[in-house]
Amino acid sequence: MIIVEPGAPDTLASPKGMGIFIMTRYKNDPFPLTVRYAGRCSRCGCALAKGAPAFYWPSSRQVLCTACGEPEYRGFLASAEDEDWYLSQRHR
Ligand SMILES: [Zn+2]
Repeated sequence: MIIVEPGAPDTLASPKGMGIFIMTRYKNDPFPLTVRYAGRCSRCGCALAKGAPAFYWPSSRQVLCTACGEPEYRGFLASAEDEDWYLSQRHR
């Protein structure tokens, strides 16, 4: 079940948007959001109330509750930072 508007991620990723924290090259990477429509976590199936914090994975179009999504999101951030650090060490 998709509980965010289909166009929302693209709108958020727009360079013209306000308060953008998503870089366009990471368009398909997960990001935190506020639930727009009541639904359920794609992982554990728990209820997500409208207005509740959650995490969205654009590539798989999954919405995860904070309990499921936050550890994965932090893991993603850590791996992304590691990659940046790794690449920064390799410049010629
Ligand atoms: Zn969950």
